[in-house]
Amino acid sequence: MSAPRLEIHLEHLQHNATTMVNRLARQGIKVTGVSKATLGLPEIVRTWVAAGVHSIGESRIESIESLSRCELGVPLLLIRSPMLSQVDRVVAHAAISCNSEAVVLKALAAAAHCQGVRHGVLLMVELGDLREGILAADLEAMVLLTLALPNLLLVGIGTNLGCQNGVAPDEANMGELSRLIEALERRFGIRLEWCSGGNSANLPWLTGGGDRGRINHLRLGEALLLGREPLSRTAIPGLYTDAITLVAEVIESKRKPSRAWGTRHCTSFANGPVAPQKQPDQPMAMRALLALGEQDADPAGLSAPGINIEGASSDHLVVSGAAEALAPGDEQRFQVSYSSLLRAMTSPFVSRCFIGGPA
Ligand SMILES: *Cc1c(COP(=O)(O)O)cnc(C)c1O
Repeated sequence: MSAPRLEIHLEHLQHNATTMVNRLARQGIKVTGVSKATLGLPEIVRTWVAAGVHSIGESRIESIESLSRCELGVPLLLIRSPMLSQVDRVVAHAAISCNSEAVVLKALAAAAHCQGVRHGVLLMVELGDLREGILAADLEAMVLLTLALPNLLLVGIGTNLGCQNGVAPDEANMGELSRLIEALERRFGIRLEWCSGGNSANLPWLTGGGDRGRINHLRLGEALLLGREPLSRTAIPGLYTDAITLVAEVIESKRKPSRAWGTRHCTSFANGPVAPQKQPDQPMAMRALLALGEQDADPAGLSAPGINIEGASSDHLVVSGAAEALAPGDEQRFQVSYSSLLRAMTSPFVSRCFIGGPA
């Protein structure tokens, strides 16, 4: 089999999705499976649909378009605000998009009118993480605009925390989202279907017994793919954290001095050394070189029991520790972080191999 490769265990992914969908259903919460870290890989997305996700979320229109050709039978949600230059493609292929700009809403309405379709709008509210979202004070005006635009259907409001500044969902910000949706419903005499509380970072707050208030929807990527919640990167009980692993091949294995020698400056991917520059008589240690680099995965997001990652450049990963036992031609498996997974999925050099079909 070729290396490097991502090994994707479809039954374990389906287990993760079924477990989360069922757990959250008991709390009245529907799940959108967010497949962006896999570039909308149809094999994975199909297991999620089989597991009962309500819809599929993607950040890029290209992935929405290819998923729309898969005829999954569930709505496709564009989770990044549409580019003004792409509104035609958005209304043609996404059932719903997340929005925070009046000018984009107007363009979406015009495009939907031309195409004779109705486009769903989820208005994103800024609750402290400082990425996308309308400030609470401006929300009412944006709702008024959305309701007034023909060919748009306001499906609800949502927020996104954790991704930009690591702000945790808690009683305060989640309570505010619930209060905002209720105020809007009273003000406009409407009922909004979705109160979308956030992403995998919302799970600790929910499992901690937080009052879910009006929250009835989450958009989950990392939890389903890697079985972890992103705020502290802890494993979610009952989920597989190794449903997707990265396998690389050893190309050199030698006993070498354990410190670099010579005058040291910047490396290809980092600034100058922090360790003392010259230390004679370093003990020798086994090091293995793997054919895997920054072009294939985020080295900081790789882990394997007993393996120390000494460093990486474009095409090489240097490891020590349990690397003792590695010889050229051997394969080493790593667990991946979200950023490592994203980069591996994006690299043309990393192949994918599936274990187990969709159940
Ligand atoms: C990426 C993203 C998600 C999914 O985040 P996870 O932490 O992977 O669950 C949800 N919503 C939005 C808006 C996103 O950008």
